Amino acid sequence: MPNNQLPKLFIPGPVDIAPETYEAMCQSMMGHRGGDFEALYSSIQPGLKKILGTDRPVYLSTSSAWGVMEGAIRNLVQKKVLNLCCGAFSDKWFGVAQSCDKEAEKIQVEWGQPIDPAAVRAKLAEGGFDTVTLVHNETSTGVMNDLAGIAAVVKEFPGVLLVVDTVSSLSAVPVEMDDLGIDVVLAGVQKAFALPPGLTIFAISEAALERAAGTSGRGYYFDFIEFEKNAVKNNTPSTPAVSLLYALKHKVDSIMEEGLDARFARHAQLNGMIHAWLTKHGFEHFAPAGFRSKTLTTIANNQNIDVPGFIKALRQKHHILINGGYGKIKGTTFRISNMGNESVESMQELIDALDDVVVDFL
Ligand SMILES: *Cc1c(COP(=O)(O)O)cnc(C)c1O
Repeated sequence: MPNNQLPKLFIPGPVDIAPETYEAMCQSMMGHRGGDFEALYSSIQPGLKKILGTDRPVYLSTSSAWGVMEGAIRNLVQKKVLNLCCGAFSDKWFGVAQSCDKEAEKIQVEWGQPIDPAAVRAKLAEGGFDTVTLVHNETSTGVMNDLAGIAAVVKEFPGVLLVVDTVSSLSAVPVEMDDLGIDVVLAGVQKAFALPPGLTIFAISEAALERAAGTSGRGYYFDFIEFEKNAVKNNTPSTPAVSLLYALKHKVDSIMEEGLDARFARHAQLNGMIHAWLTKHGFEHFAPAGFRSKTLTTIANNQNIDVPGFIKALRQKHHILINGGYGKIKGTTFRISNMGNESVESMQELIDALDDVVVDFL
């Protein structure tokens, strides 16, 4: 079981893990080429399909999200990819596409701004693209992009596939893969799912499967065709992280028990508590209204407080960790997560601690 040496995490991933999750992981090991594993694998599928809003199988990749993010590029891009860039993760996807020797172009907006669907339409209309990448919830900036709007635009261009990173949004807000016509939905489990890192769940459309079959240089470990071949047998291409799958099974069952709508409402409510806190103390949002994440809040340091000092004091006095801003917005922003298992009670404890410490810094 976890020791309590380390602070409780309110950073936007990895997030705090429930004791029940650790307990669920402590089950006997099994070989993965047999009935016991197939039973475990297939028992998780119905819940995962509901969470992703898809009838397609949901693949389980023993990797962090970047494995599948790079894999999507290698499986799907034959002509040219359009990377929609609005923060650290989405910007990096462009670099990853180039490092895979793919032709890539980007739409770059300033950090803190969302992607404009009209700009996507204008760019795709130039022609030559066959793939688009989008980060739904840009965890570095706290911007949640207009997934439905952007998906609808990509649908206007037959032959262009849409790949969506939902690492910090899946299960916390609706993601309707089939209804929106998304071709790849992927999520690492250490953020919105509140599981230990090391596993990524993803699903791909029939069109993406067909595209992958005709793409050379897919490699092996993230080959979508290998995932599909094994999924039909309730299995994975290579040895899966079985302990994490025990945790995933437990988590998916508990999400189904909570109910997706109740889970969405809980995240919205808890997120609202942090919004109220920042307003109360005269802070501002980094992200514009209408595009604010429901799973974390990126707070603009408009009052120029000593962010590292504030974070250190929170940790020392209250055993709580928040984040001091990502990359180039370190210090000018700070971030607080409400994703995973948080409750009104746990968020209130956080807010009491924030209130207690912030007065020394304003
Ligand atoms: C954390 C995060 C990632 C990176 O995931 P890894 O687990 O480091 O591979 C990608 N996208 C988003 C939106 C994230 O928040």
